[in-house]
Amino acid sequence: MKKPKAANRYCPFCKKKTNHKIKQLSTGIKRGTLTRGSMSRARKRGLGRGYGNLGRYGSKPPINKWKRKIKNTKKAVFIYTCQECGKAHQSRRGLRTSKVIFE
Ligand SMILES: [Zn+2]
Repeated sequence: MKKPKAANRYCPFCKKKTNHKIKQLSTGIKRGTLTRGSMSRARKRGLGRGYGNLGRYGSKPPINKWKRKIKNTKKAVFIYTCQECGKAHQSRRGLRTSKVIFE
């Protein structure tokens, strides 16, 4: 899906059409990456490194590649920032796409 970087849209704060900057909302950082018993903590301890069979810390995922990819698309959420008042608002509905390209 292609999307422009800026567009003329209705601003609910200015109550008129103004120029808006468009940004895609990201999922952000993963929660609990450094919790007890996590993979990243084991990696920091030095487990799962080297060669040979690494057991549960090995590189192979527990589920096959073709089994993992069930959902190919996600709902993309866009943030529209008004260039006049500087306030931001979201799009009403999310569109299902695999990739968003800003041009
Ligand atoms: Zn505005």
